[in-house]
Amino acid sequence: MTSNETEDTRWMRIALDEAMEAFERGDWPTGAVLVRDGELLARGQNRQNTRSDPTAHAETDALQIAFAVHGADVARGATLYCTMEPCPMCAGALKLAGVRTLVLALRHATLRRTDLGHYDLEAFCAMTGYEVELRQNVLEADYLALRLRWGRDPVAPAR
Ligand SMILES: [Zn+2]
Repeated sequence: MTSNETEDTRWMRIALDEAMEAFERGDWPTGAVLVRDGELLARGQNRQNTRSDPTAHAETDALQIAFAVHGADVARGATLYCTMEPCPMCAGALKLAGVRTLVLALRHATLRRTDLGHYDLEAFCAMTGYEVELRQNVLEADYLALRLRWGRDPVAPAR
């Protein structure tokens, strides 16, 4: 195992904890962790049901907490660990924030989501000139199990 794999797994476990908290509260089970130079900047989770705010996603939650504590430039060059591939809104927020590395557990395509059309992160990056290093499938099975418990994705993946 490379040190990247060890680090990625360690931070993704915290993102999974955030996702579990959101799940237990009745929000979409998504969690995110913002890290720079090996330092935790913020933890975020989806709050869109409990806040009645469709834009209260895990990624924006983590970014807003980090900005409030450390200022607007804190995420430049940072790494975001997220249990789910960011939606177009969050991809835009990550680009504006200057996040340069994205580590994911699960992709939309794996859930066979149909609500985002032809969107995926690579298409967003190509369209907007967003250069981000992508690592994926970190703790994917653990997170997929939580999504299946949640059971509200358009089509559950074939088992
Ligand atoms: Zn989002």
